[in-house]
Amino acid sequence: DRLIAPDSKGPEEQLDRAIRPKTLAEYVGQPVVREQMEIFIQAARARDESLDHTLVFGPPGLGKTTLANIIAQEMGVALKSTSGPVLEKAGDLAALMTNLEPGDVLFIDEIHRLSPVVEEILYPAMEDFQLDIVIGEGPAARSIKLDLPPFTLVGATTRAGLLTSPLRDRFGIVQRLEFYNIADLTHIVSRSADLLGVPMDEAGAAEVAKRSRGTPRIANRLLRRVRDYAQIKADGQVSETVADQALNMLNVDVRGFDHMDRRLLVAMMDNFTGGPVGVDSLAAAIGEERGTIEDVIEPYLIQQGFIARTPRGRVLTAQAYQHFGAPVPDRFKD
Ligand code: ADP
Repeated sequence: DRLIAPDSKGPEEQLDRAIRPKTLAEYVGQPVVREQMEIFIQAARARDESLDHTLVFGPPGLGKTTLANIIAQEMGVALKSTSGPVLEKAGDLAALMTNLEPGDVLFIDEIHRLSPVVEEILYPAMEDFQLDIVIGEGPAARSIKLDLPPFTLVGATTRAGLLTSPLRDRFGIVQRLEFYNIADLTHIVSRSADLLGVPMDEAGAAEVAKRSRGTPRIANRLLRRVRDYAQIKADGQVSETVADQALNMLNVDVRGFDHMDRRLLVAMMDNFTGGPVGVDSLAAAIGEERGTIEDVIEPYLIQQGFIARTPRGRVLTAQAYQHFGAPVPDRFKD
């Protein structure tokens, strides 16, 4: 498994609950999103209305679920949570929606994976707070309409482009989360270290931050592994040196790349002479799914300027060659 996989399940979730920010003020970074949401939430509250439906998109682990919870908290309402693939039948969603209290937040993670029948009943629900469902089958089937309380749908997805346009158009607020800079990640690591009681200095936090792929979930996970290392190999204290040693042992390199990132870059270099190469060929070469490359691996490599997207496919940049100490081919020099 990938240590820096930005998706998390299992016992880690519990630890996470302790360090997950609960208010907008605690939500580090993302200044644009924070400023806008503060205004929209205040305005909706002052009018005593539910907040407009909100779509949040960005790579895994950047804080979409956290933001949904914060919205509910700041609006003073409850959050009901589900995800696209879990809702198989229209009735599954209908059951959830008829249980909402006025103003509640309905959070749908991976909203791009809703089945078309479920998506159909979402449209009138979002637009007019109306539930249109068909009950019964064949000649006895009838369509019934139910009024729903006003609610806020918060949808999360890794890429906004994965949504059908009628669904996308029904969101009044669309927020895009960006990778976090080192200063913000350092802040997140220090905060988590405090909450978990890990003795760590600023330089130690900065070292973990630098190697976290711009992603808070990865930063928190690396922090826990670094804590283990410090406990056994040092005196428990996390300094820059201890963090560096721990992360080297974990095979997270100085740029925060792990074996999957390196495999992708090396395959582009060795098998495809630096590109351009299509994502399907790349997926076959490294034995990963196309979706994993597009959603999880490549966004950070692109943001860091190691890969560029061109109309003919992905290409490496000179920086990628330099990272591996490989000679930069002439065509990559400008
Ligand atoms: P996503 O839903 O986008 O996959 P999450 O909301 O589950 O990501 O975030 C992963 C973890 O990272 C959270 O549990 C939280 O501890 C941390 N985190 C995310 N965003 C922030 C933030 N802006 N400030 C501090 N911690 C954050």
